[in-house]
Amino acid sequence: MSIEKQISIIKNEIKDKADLVAVSKTRSIQEIQEAYNSGQLKFGENRVQEIVDKQSKLPNNIEWHMIGHLQKNKVKYIAKFINLIHSVDRISLAKEIDKHAKKENRKIDCLIQLKISKEESKFGLQIEDFKNFYESLQNYKNLNVIGLMGMASFTDDNELIDKEFKKIKTIYDDMVLIDSRFKVLSIGMSDDYNIAIENGSNMIRVGSKIFGKRNY
Ligand SMILES: *Cc1c(COP(=O)(O)O)cnc(C)c1O
Repeated sequence: MSIEKQISIIKNEIKDKADLVAVSKTRSIQEIQEAYNSGQLKFGENRVQEIVDKQSKLPNNIEWHMIGHLQKNKVKYIAKFINLIHSVDRISLAKEIDKHAKKENRKIDCLIQLKISKEESKFGLQIEDFKNFYESLQNYKNLNVIGLMGMASFTDDNELIDKEFKKIKTIYDDMVLIDSRFKVLSIGMSDDYNIAIENGSNMIRVGSKIFGKRNY
């Protein structure tokens, strides 16, 4: 099925409950252009070199989202144009984002990535460290925390996924009450965005359901 068709199916499913970030990692300029032509403006990437290259070749009104693990020595390459960094999970990275945002004379919107699954390989901040981490971020005036991101376990156990999303939603709801900047809960991917939306997701990150299976 075409990229355009897939996007319209997903948008129809999620209605206005959530923003759709089209995860375009590994996809060609042409595929992204096709999604863009159908009205899609938010794209997510997980590698700095790739996002920089694509940003330079594609229309200026695209919103670029960094959704993957970010090395602090690479923040400088994206600081000028990045719209939202979903993967802030350590102070050293936050400090670097703040520094480069200041240099560019802007504030960079960020999400704190929480580890909600038990899988070893996943990045993200441990939930028990969240409060301290959030407090420390207040020192970084050019880093604007606007919400949370999480990835559920890679499993077909929907109950487990539901439980993991409920964990992050609880924390998100607490934060909304105390910090007026909080407005994004980024949970849900191709295989679990329906469960995420039932749990209050307002931003989903969908790759393979739009562009087809990735070859890695
Ligand atoms: C790749 C990726 C996605 C999209 O995954 P799909 O299963 O292809 O929808 C979402 N979020 C993150 C952080 C990713 O790395």
